[in-house]
Amino acid sequence: MKIVAPTASSIEDAVRLLRKGGLVAFPTETVYGLGGDATNERAVVAIFEAKGRPRFNPLIAHVPGAADAQRFVRWSAAAERLAAAFWPGPLTFVLPRAERSPIALLATAGLDTVAIRAPAHPVAQALIRAAGLPLAAPSANRSGAVSPTRAEHVAESLGERVSLILDGGPCAVGVESTVLDLTGATPVLLRPGGATREAIEAVIGPIALSTALPMGDAARSSPGQLESHYAPSRPVRLEATTVSADEALLAFGPHPPAGAVMTRNLSPTGDLAEAAANLFAHMRALDRPEVGRIAVMPVPHTGLGLAINDRLRRAAADDGAKRQG
Ligand code: AMP
Ligand code: MG
Repeated sequence: MKIVAPTASSIEDAVRLLRKGGLVAFPTETVYGLGGDATNERAVVAIFEAKGRPRFNPLIAHVPGAADAQRFVRWSAAAERLAAAFWPGPLTFVLPRAERSPIALLATAGLDTVAIRAPAHPVAQALIRAAGLPLAAPSANRSGAVSPTRAEHVAESLGERVSLILDGGPCAVGVESTVLDLTGATPVLLRPGGATREAIEAVIGPIALSTALPMGDAARSSPGQLESHYAPSRPVRLEATTVSADEALLAFGPHPPAGAVMTRNLSPTGDLAEAAANLFAHMRALDRPEVGRIAVMPVPHTGLGLAINDRLRRAAADDGAKRQG
């Protein structure tokens, strides 16, 4: 495994690997992705294997922009308006598979829909354009673990399961993309993420939350949405306003309680964008053997707070469900 700076020559190396069905970890503005050719079944199998991810969990296809997306999905008026407002950026659309779409069936876990996004990170853009391929790219970590927001996290989690990591520094957004189902009359938010509900509704009007669907329906329409996910190895306690002596504190805001084994503050000023960018790195930093439990202070449930609280809730869920990645 090599961690390399993204240069014209390392991107060429990466493209050579991708064209042969190999895997490359690369930075996006959300988290690091483990990329493979989304049209190559073997490359997609290799992604599932490297992550240890159950195969019913479909992957997002990454493309340079809206013009490219239309080869793979049946585009719509809502997609057009949202892409104009958010792409490239942290918003994924679920749309019907286009006729003769070359996206591997395994990448969509047999669904007749495709999840697709244009990432904003310049290294992701350069890589996808140079490869001339849509890249399937789930987060570059073992299934169920905390998502990587730095190249070192990828190396720690995947080790020799990935041969090349392009190091683009820390991810600016820090939580995964928002996944929006555009296949029905009303768009449905399947996963809160880097694009906020408020910003989306400002463009296309009211959207529905998948949490409003019966649990089974939500799991079927977006199979990645199982409870336990993004999980550190230590237990997690939410809504903490005090800490005990064996706990590490994931703080938010200017007045964290004293007395924790160690403390990391998501944002001392209470800024949700800063908190999202720090979330996974801080969770990793607190996930240490000497810590009995990770206590997490309340985070407001607006804007990026929806995505942050979603990941925190999954980190705390210990429901015995198979961890997805
Ligand atoms: P990740 O690759 O870890 O960012 O996760 C991708 C997310 O997108 C998971 O929650 C998947 O369940 C969801 N997803 C991917 N493809 C589809 C699809 N065709 N329909 C619904 N959800 C999808
Ligand atoms: Mg993931």
